[in-house]
Amino acid sequence: MRDELFARIESRTEELVELTADLIRIPTINPPGDVYVDCARFIGERLGARGFEVQYVRGEGSPGDSDRYPRMNVIARRQGSRPGPCVHFNGHTDVVEVGRGWTVAPFAGVVRDGKVYGRGACDMKGGIAAAIIAVEALVETRPDFPGALEISGTVDEETGGYGGVAYMARQGLFSRPRVDHVIIPEPLNVDRVCLGHRGVWWGQIETFGRIAHGSMPFLGDSAIRHMSAVLERFEHELYPHLDGKRTEMPVAPEGARRSTMNINSVHGGLSEGFDGLPSAVVADSCRVVVDRRYLIEESYDEVRGEIVDLLERLKRDRPNFQYNLKEMWSVPPTMTDRDAPVVRAVAGEIEAVLGRAADYVISPGTYDQKHIARLGHLHDCIAYGPGILDLAHQPDEYVAIDDLVASAKVMAASAWALMTGEVA
Ligand SMILES: [Zn+2]
Repeated sequence: MRDELFARIESRTEELVELTADLIRIPTINPPGDVYVDCARFIGERLGARGFEVQYVRGEGSPGDSDRYPRMNVIARRQGSRPGPCVHFNGHTDVVEVGRGWTVAPFAGVVRDGKVYGRGACDMKGGIAAAIIAVEALVETRPDFPGALEISGTVDEETGGYGGVAYMARQGLFSRPRVDHVIIPEPLNVDRVCLGHRGVWWGQIETFGRIAHGSMPFLGDSAIRHMSAVLERFEHELYPHLDGKRTEMPVAPEGARRSTMNINSVHGGLSEGFDGLPSAVVADSCRVVVDRRYLIEESYDEVRGEIVDLLERLKRDRPNFQYNLKEMWSVPPTMTDRDAPVVRAVAGEIEAVLGRAADYVISPGTYDQKHIARLGHLHDCIAYGPGILDLAHQPDEYVAIDDLVASAKVMAASAWALMTGEVA
């Protein structure tokens, strides 16, 4: 079985490369969410012609959804010949902006030196193409397979996934009994099983002051100086405290194996778009946005509580200090068990295909697994796919053809193992 399946995938290498390039040529840049419909139809028409039942789901009313930019998702299902579990491959079709520094045309689908180049090559159109070829090869070599195979192309992962996986999960499309196992072919490297991700907490802190003439600042009260007191406490108290929090989660890269916080932005006083001469005023408002990433050992209450506590102490210590804290969004950390069926199946096939033991990792940032766990209540979910994580969102992003083929083999054989309980 395995030989036949792998030979089928190898014989379709050129098609896998062409499919990756074709997907890259549909420039699904997000934001704003360009040509989502074209990409959904491309995937849907291909799988529809191969006997899959295809459904288009528009994330109506989700952020960014409009008639000009419909949040269009596609889901294709092929029912087997007898009962059994459903294995679902989910990939996001959106890509981030191009940015500077490219030496190849980002949407041409250039193939060179054993690599396919372009925006989305690694994150994650290569992964979608590998999953499609894996599933097609499996159906061709084992038409009597049990259970069901599904492939979805979903939107907006790069901006939170609310019009994509979250929308579909709310409709039961990522829950039992419809789906049992989910593999997300994000670029986590071809020999690694990604079990989940750290948590996220985003908050906006605003400090307040009183406006006055800038030549007599003592008649007003500067919100920016109040904010600098907040930032100073971050430096001297919060950052050392966060640096001390280590985790058992195998986060890669290793630098992220602790709590982190990025100060996303600071705004106060003159608005940024204005390039004339400023008027002389004391700022009465200053805002920072913080992006806090947290660990499975920490709770949401603890993460939020650290910030509130710091601000409350400033309120006691510093005259006229007033603030407002607005929570923007949060996601709990998630980590699938190492002995979950999907983890065991994929790790076993990585070893069989690549001849080396799989690594287990946790992503420093979140991806669509959060919605599958929280809204779909489905925990047999991992990310596994071709492509080098460090290349995601970079100029000259690429995916290696060897990795595309190897990951397609791992995905096909894992799906077989999950559907039948036997090794391919
Ligand atoms: Zn991605």
